[in-house]
Amino acid sequence: MSTPAAAQTSTSDAAELAGWSVADSAALYGVNRWGDPYFSVNSQGNVQVKPQGERGAALDMVELVKGLQGRNLSLPLLIRFDNILEDRLERLHQAFEQAIGTYNYPGRYQGVFPVKCNQQRHVVEQLMESGRRWHFGLEAGSKAELLIALSLLDDPEALLICNGYKDQRYIETAILARRLGRQPVVVIEQPDEVDRIITASHDLGAAPLIGIRAKLSARSTGRWGSSVGDKAKFGLAIPDVLATVEALRNANLLSELRLLHFHIGSQINDIAVLKDALQEAGQIYASLSQLGAPMGYLDVGGGLGVDYDGSRTATSASKNYSLQNYANDVVATAKECCEPWGITVPTLVSESGRAIASHFSVLVFDVLGTGTVPRGVPIQADSESLTVRNLRETLNSLSVLESQVDQKLESSLTTQRKLEKLQEAWNDAVKFKQDALAAFRLGYLSLTERATAEQLTWACADRIANLLPETVIPEELRALRAALAKTYYANLSIFRSAPDTWAIDQLFPVMPIHRLNEKPEELGSFADLTCDSDGKLERFINSGQAKTLLELHTFNHKQPYWIGMFLAGAYQEVMGNLHNLFGSTNAVNIRLNSKGGYQLDHVVKGDTNAQVLEAMEHNPSELLERLRMASEAAISSGQLNIKDASRLMDHLESSLRQTTYLNNCLQTTDQQN
Ligand SMILES: *Cc1c(COP(=O)(O)O)cnc(C)c1O
Repeated sequence: MSTPAAAQTSTSDAAELAGWSVADSAALYGVNRWGDPYFSVNSQGNVQVKPQGERGAALDMVELVKGLQGRNLSLPLLIRFDNILEDRLERLHQAFEQAIGTYNYPGRYQGVFPVKCNQQRHVVEQLMESGRRWHFGLEAGSKAELLIALSLLDDPEALLICNGYKDQRYIETAILARRLGRQPVVVIEQPDEVDRIITASHDLGAAPLIGIRAKLSARSTGRWGSSVGDKAKFGLAIPDVLATVEALRNANLLSELRLLHFHIGSQINDIAVLKDALQEAGQIYASLSQLGAPMGYLDVGGGLGVDYDGSRTATSASKNYSLQNYANDVVATAKECCEPWGITVPTLVSESGRAIASHFSVLVFDVLGTGTVPRGVPIQADSESLTVRNLRETLNSLSVLESQVDQKLESSLTTQRKLEKLQEAWNDAVKFKQDALAAFRLGYLSLTERATAEQLTWACADRIANLLPETVIPEELRALRAALAKTYYANLSIFRSAPDTWAIDQLFPVMPIHRLNEKPEELGSFADLTCDSDGKLERFINSGQAKTLLELHTFNHKQPYWIGMFLAGAYQEVMGNLHNLFGSTNAVNIRLNSKGGYQLDHVVKGDTNAQVLEAMEHNPSELLERLRMASEAAISSGQLNIKDASRLMDHLESSLRQTTYLNNCLQTTDQQN
């Protein structure tokens, strides 16, 4: 921790003097590991984005946000880079093309996008358009998604994979879609769906393409690992697979059985798990072929992971394989399983959602203020109780140590001895504070004295933190840093914008998008404006275990402080509900233009308060009317004058028209300032 004065000098010269460079920031936040090839830090100390990787122009994120603000798009803002979406799709296909070349695979790859991963129309449309050259298709997991898929997929060669629970209507819709010239594959996931498919096919005199989802014994190590494997909800156990084949044969539908599907969970961390599943599925595929089904497609599901922390390990926020490793394993294993039996190799299908959609969207939010424990030294009163005097003494001993350090007398003090002294002082401070609390409970200490004791304890903590050597910090003193950490108030509803951090502790890379030529002198975490205990962001990527505090810059009200949450394009945008009446954020799609600049492709304004209220079945005009009547009553009883009443109504009306986020800065609650 440093003095506020030092942290406020923000010229790059000062930063150089402090021995801090943009490269240090890049290393600290790991951006070159998780952001490659799209995100990095430029020489101005801002995050820059290269939406086409090394092949295209770079945009400065800070300039971009300023430009968007100039167009009346305030923070928080979800910025989607359409070129990144395209680039991801291209890389996925390139990886499979390369693997097919490497292994002389006599078949091809033809993927689909799982709609549930990001249902935004613009996203799906974009993928359909850029995926047309590969006949890229869609996967639907529900009736609603089937409708989305049907309306947006018009390539007769692209696959439309129908997963999820299927009632009669779902199945009939899929069958009729085939008449529209689409390629729907109804994937049987439950034994009771077989009869429904047979009945619907007889009724309509037409059949869909049929797939079977196998329940594999291989279990994913991923976050959803427990919902798959032998006890999984979805998929047919091997005896059911065999029974299904016979039922289809008897109904003259075996000729439509074309696809074997499996999905062992999202975010597969360990490639060994995938290999096991591929081998198992490959053998089942070969057996189905031998049983007389025409087959043709092996659908390896989703699960292709994203390296959120950049560590390239088999941990939950990472994965121990590259896109190319993945494609190689799929291709090689499919070949190995078919060739010995003389079976034609399948067209390979994957339902990769996360791997395609994560990188392209970034959530940028602003910090409205910070809060921290009070740290000043309280003025000494005439007669102070023993515990307070003890705390003052501890603080004094730290001052002595500080002056020794200042006068360079510390050489007489080994680092070890210094650490021991600091540890001792902290132990004392904690003990005296506990004494003070006990005395307060028993009525021996006044409220004012208790406040003094707490403040002195924090002053000790602050001084110790300043005296700690940069390198070695014992475990217990680490907790002290956490105690001193600041809360950064974010203009954001975390549940709404990043539900996975709330729901399943998913980690996303989070970092300031500017001031990266300055050393971040604070440690902090984020709290949102929803005032509930879920509205916190306090786990951050790290090369090892997640960390609870993030290095951040000292906040001041003269300068905005913008934070980016990256890799947020998969699942985050769709899961959030209207939590705490905070609606959706403003969202904008950015596309590079030929001059190296950008254009706005699509803008979605965040929900207004009125829309959010309507979604909850409140009627905004009725609500206004009631409040108008209440203020009339207050005017006639003399509690409100007409001027104030009209001011109140004005505020109410305009806030119904505004988005649910704050447009300007709150006053800080930082008691240091
Ligand atoms: C969720 C899901 C996917 C997408 O998984 P990702 O890990 O995002 O690629 C694919 N298929 C099925 C059946 C799913 O349920």
